[in-house]
Amino acid sequence: MNVQVAVNGYGTIGKRVADAVTLQPDMELVGVAKTRPNHEAELAESKGYPLYAAIEDRIDLFEEAGIELAGTVDELVAAADVVVDACPSGIGAENKSLYEDHDTPALYQGGEDADLVDTSFNARGNFADAVGADHVRVVSCNTTGLSRLLAPLEAEYGVEKARVTLIRRGGDPAQSGRGPINDILPNPVHLPSHHGPDVNTIFPDLDIDTLGLKVPATLMHTHSVNVTLESTPDADAVAELLEGESRIFLIPEGSDIDGAGALKEFAMDRGRPRGDIWENCIWRESVSMEGSDLYLFQAIHQESDVVPENVDAIRAVTGAADAEESIARTNETVGVGF
Ligand code: NAD
Repeated sequence: MNVQVAVNGYGTIGKRVADAVTLQPDMELVGVAKTRPNHEAELAESKGYPLYAAIEDRIDLFEEAGIELAGTVDELVAAADVVVDACPSGIGAENKSLYEDHDTPALYQGGEDADLVDTSFNARGNFADAVGADHVRVVSCNTTGLSRLLAPLEAEYGVEKARVTLIRRGGDPAQSGRGPINDILPNPVHLPSHHGPDVNTIFPDLDIDTLGLKVPATLMHTHSVNVTLESTPDADAVAELLEGESRIFLIPEGSDIDGAGALKEFAMDRGRPRGDIWENCIWRESVSMEGSDLYLFQAIHQESDVVPENVDAIRAVTGAADAEESIARTNETVGVGF
């Protein structure tokens, strides 16, 4: 029988994960839970996703809005083999006891603390650590992007030290209350930003320092990367290695893609749902070697790069496939790879 998947929290990440689950031949979406009957609840209804009330006291609100409920979140979790919790940061931790009460394995997102779970997860980095685990955290968009990049570099050349400056979008496009709107903020001002230690939840022994800034942009994050390698390949060899990674897109030279705006246009022109870009986007021209130092720029679509990772994490916790098989199946069904 296909794995029965519940999605608790149907926002930016949850609605994308729900769609991706419906594309999997070995999974079934049991339903999604929402707190209120807004436009996203209507979307779930129009897609035929059974909708469950995340908060029992608000059932009346759905009825008043004419949106039909299939039950409560408790019933949703009871019917599922795995729950993907895509609630706002900190709410996942509050929901943990609900999943434990039902003995249902749960995936949480990058906004939760690493110590909430048995293991953090990135399919390319540490799939095997999550096999059979009960509580797994799919790391954040930025940590996902860094893990996908560092895994092949470590395996092929050895990483002596990674240094990354993350230029972070101020908020997602729909987050009109976030900022800055006219500033460039060191964020956090102190070192390291949380991203380096977060990468260490995937690669405990990797030496990495990260700094973060927030800017008035919503489309994507951009990473300025310097990795000191333990050997001295030339830039073409590194580019070829990265080109072979299924979740890395090397932006071709001469493509006129100069930033996140053009990347989003590129994705929308190719029919990507919501203009999503599931891959790390590395400018081929930026891949440079100076001695044993690798330099490059990569852009990360914060709203979608964790989506295929959630699908793989479902297979890891249920033991449904190994890393290679799961990544290939997810890529094919979702359409990862330009
Ligand atoms: P979001 O605010 O877009 O969506 C969260 C959804 O959960 C909303 O629909 C909200 O109404 C709902 N919700 C709130 N309380 C709930 C509850 N008790 N039960 C059920 N649903 C509830 O947030 P998001 O951007 O999708 O982020 C979700 C998680 O994913 C966070 O941990 C975040 O850090 C992480 N994440 C976000 C991004 C991003 O860029 N948006 C990227 C990677 C990871």
